[in-house]
Amino acid sequence: MEELDKGKANEKSQAASLDPYTRVAHDPHDETHQGAVVMPIYQNSLFTFADYEAFDRASTGTDDTPVYSRGHNPTVRQLEARLALLQGGEKARCFASGMAAISTAILANVRGGDHIVCVDQAYGPTRELLAYFLPQFGVETTFADGASLEALEAAIRPNTKLIYLESPTTLTFQLQDLRACADLAKRIGAVTIIDNTWATPLLQNPLAFGVDLVAHSISKYIGGHSDVVGGVLIGSAERINRINAREYLLFGGIMTPHTASLAMRGLRTLPLRLERAERSGLAVASHLATLPFVRKVNHPGLASHPQHELARQQMTGVSSLFSFETDLPAERMKAWASRLEYFRIGVSWGGHESLVTVGRLGPGYESVPGSLVRLYVGLEDPQELIADLEQASAALMQEI
Ligand SMILES: *Cc1c(COP(=O)(O)O)cnc(C)c1O
Repeated sequence: MEELDKGKANEKSQAASLDPYTRVAHDPHDETHQGAVVMPIYQNSLFTFADYEAFDRASTGTDDTPVYSRGHNPTVRQLEARLALLQGGEKARCFASGMAAISTAILANVRGGDHIVCVDQAYGPTRELLAYFLPQFGVETTFADGASLEALEAAIRPNTKLIYLESPTTLTFQLQDLRACADLAKRIGAVTIIDNTWATPLLQNPLAFGVDLVAHSISKYIGGHSDVVGGVLIGSAERINRINAREYLLFGGIMTPHTASLAMRGLRTLPLRLERAERSGLAVASHLATLPFVRKVNHPGLASHPQHELARQQMTGVSSLFSFETDLPAERMKAWASRLEYFRIGVSWGGHESLVTVGRLGPGYESVPGSLVRLYVGLEDPQELIADLEQASAALMQEI
């Protein structure tokens, strides 16, 4: 917490608390910002210096003074310090979007001639980057069933330099055994990156299992109010510093200070919102499992999920995005979705509002059934959400 620890008034460091509620709610008194309880937004592109000696010191990077906001902005830095602490990593860097973070992390760890193993059904745009974009630069990817360590292992080639994970995946909700994947990567000298967006920094710590780099889309639960697009990478100081000096500064996909401030506001209530999300999501998912047209509910928190035990071992809780499969055609399910009142039709998730989508959500998901329904359970009353699903389902059943 380098920013927060400045000044002698800050001796009671926030890092002392291990409790996530305290960590996000309590900041030490901050004399450098006049005791402001909310970090000001440093809406500055640049910072000036009283003399050339100070400027030289700052520009040579020997101290951590802001010079230009593409590199260092104090508001963004504070969000990064908080996210690193919550995720249990040494350092974090924030980006303009989750995809900016993910593409930077991948590009920082491969070069022409390398090979990547990626879990099947990873986030669609990530798959596109790997399947269609990177081959232009001589980097090839094999997609493999992440639920099977044997399948991942079989995909490895002598030039595999990166194993890309996403656990759970966010359409079919399959998990990978993170410790086993990290061990496998270490054996072959490859780097591991995980998209940890579903679990947030609070419910899963892949770094503790030996994964090298954790990526999140801040646009989901962390922002939490559907008004922010952002991303973050968290890892060892050495790894983040290397990315910072090269891809971060050169690609320039930075987060703005205003976005960082909104994300910090979101963080304040993340534990509270997740607690409700877990309960409401499980209540709605359990109810769906009783409906006659629902063949299978994909929610790692349900005992019926084939990897439920693994979910319990490597996550401390579950969030509220899940899907279900049906034998009815996609058109029927779209009509059903249109009848829902509280579940609005739309992509993304993690905000206050419940959402529904039907089908594959763009290219990269060819193996996913077209009538798959994904639900995001927001902060509304779960009983009202269930009643809403009931009324739409009753109408659907009448048509069959
Ligand atoms: C939304 C999302 C992303 C991409 O994040 P953006 O902020 O939209 O760029 C990546 N991975 C997962 C799992 C997501 O849900």
